[in-house]
Amino acid sequence: MNIHEYQAKELLAKYGVPVPAGYAAMTVEEAVEVSKKLPGPLYVVKSQIHAGGRGKGKFKELPPEAKGGVRLAWSEEEVRAAATDMLGNTLVTIQTGEHGKQVNRLYVTDGADIEKEFYLALLVNRATGRVSMVVSTEGGMDIETVAHDTPEKIHAIDIDAATGFMPHHGRSVAAALGLTGDLAKQAASTASKLYDAFLGTDAEQIEINPLAVTKQGQLLVLDAKVAFDGNAMFRHKDLMELRDESEEDPAELEASKYDLAYIKLDGDIGCMVNGAGLAMATMDIIKLNGMFPANFLDVGGGANKAKVTAAFKIILADPNVKGILVNIFGGIMKCDIIAEGIVAAAKEVNLSVPLVVRLEGTNVQQGKDILANSGLAIVPANDLGDAAKKIVAEVQKAA
Ligand code: GDP
Ligand code: MG
Repeated sequence: MNIHEYQAKELLAKYGVPVPAGYAAMTVEEAVEVSKKLPGPLYVVKSQIHAGGRGKGKFKELPPEAKGGVRLAWSEEEVRAAATDMLGNTLVTIQTGEHGKQVNRLYVTDGADIEKEFYLALLVNRATGRVSMVVSTEGGMDIETVAHDTPEKIHAIDIDAATGFMPHHGRSVAAALGLTGDLAKQAASTASKLYDAFLGTDAEQIEINPLAVTKQGQLLVLDAKVAFDGNAMFRHKDLMELRDESEEDPAELEASKYDLAYIKLDGDIGCMVNGAGLAMATMDIIKLNGMFPANFLDVGGGANKAKVTAAFKIILADPNVKGILVNIFGGIMKCDIIAEGIVAAAKEVNLSVPLVVRLEGTNVQQGKDILANSGLAIVPANDLGDAAKKIVAEVQKAA
């Protein structure tokens, strides 16, 4: 689960991480009002969307030479102008895709006098099973480019959860950033607090870019991207309240309500499968037969009628879908029960595209009989290869 920059900074501030003063605003007037609470003379007006690269982004509604989604302002008038340009408009960045994201919230912060920009991120290193602190002197820019062009400028410091964050980790972070004296102490202390925040919130990622050194010799978090581990959210009710559903893909949001693992893709064939591994195999075999999957969808172990109906509706809401392939293994949930669910759901949603169903497992024959006697134009398949061939043929026939 992702949150906005202003929420991330408020959260990090609770852990003692140094962030500039700032206030969220939902309207232009509010942006101007909150800027008066800041010392000035420099303010930063920042578009709040769940995507990075805002500074270099472009607004669809503004001329191409207009400034991006992070703007410096030296007066009330400039704050007003920046807020007016941003609110309600669509910001396209390297991370949003070409459709961009509508800006509905702003963050107005105290502007810092930047001397240097660093990069610091925390994530779980799955290979070592430890929290990894990734640091680089090359902050403020696209870290993927740094990793590609100058990998030697990226340092990873792994922290064993059993011992926790030790003073030597802090010294390693400071050394990697080339800091000495008081700034080295600030770096060590900030790194330690970020580690506390990472563990305390069950974060999946904390990315600070830039971590700035100001001309006044202060280390400051100027941008923060925080994502939590969805599997741990049940024990963070307070963090759940930070969820902004308007930032999420509507189909993926709907799927999450039914506990369906759904990810939209760009192809033409909708897939409904149980089990992530089987779903991956199904997607692969569709590709092998010359077409592309429209989605990844794992209906999970308990594939009942309500879930199957919801899954059909979500798949059919995608205008690209030209056919559906259902590939379900009846284990705990028997094939006849699944077949009844498919038939009932197909009737309810008035299925308008070809449907190929492959069932395997317990009571498979009863399941196939239910499909055959349903009166619906369901094409049965015997195995995975057969199913993929049939759905591709059906879609091509219908075209
Ligand atoms: P992003 O483009 O979405 O990553 O947004 P950031 O918050 O990282 O801002 C983009 C860039 O704006 C930063 O890399 C800085 O160069 C600049 N910026 C952000 N905050 C400040 C600030 O307080 N003072 C100054 N001078 N520049 C800032
Ligand atoms: Mg940034």
